[in-house]
Amino acid sequence: MGDVEIRRSRKRTRTVRAYREGDKTIVLMPAHLSRPEEERHVRSLIERLERREKRVRPSDDELLDRAAALSREWLEGRAVPASVRWVSNQNSRWGSCTSAEGSIRLSDRLKGMPEWVVDYVLLHELAHLIEANHSSRFWALIEAFPQTERAKGFLEGVSWQRR
Ligand SMILES: [Zn+2]
Repeated sequence: MGDVEIRRSRKRTRTVRAYREGDKTIVLMPAHLSRPEEERHVRSLIERLERREKRVRPSDDELLDRAAALSREWLEGRAVPASVRWVSNQNSRWGSCTSAEGSIRLSDRLKGMPEWVVDYVLLHELAHLIEANHSSRFWALIEAFPQTERAKGFLEGVSWQRR
């Protein structure tokens, strides 16, 4: 866990909140809380954050299971991934694959993003195991997935913010 920065606000009356900013965790609190109250809040907020992040940070094995399930559900099981893993050296792309090996790599920048976004990127790469290019046949493969447009918009928004 990185540094925790507590920001106290006189305007904030009751609500406490925590979020990540890079490696740092920012905790927003009302100014009047006592030390023990503050510590209790920080602990429970961070626990909650970590639980939430864990849910969308599956291990490589869990990713492979998820990919197999997505393939069954949306691609009639036609994409058969041999391996799926997180990589940290992929800054310009969210996912990539090597169809000859059936291997899929996901950028770890996706960690912490909503599950349906990670699912979309996984499904996108699975579809590339069947169709290499972004042809109309490629898009037809994943068009039934209900979150395609929403996930594309979400990822474009993230890319734009980080420019
Ligand atoms: Zn693609």
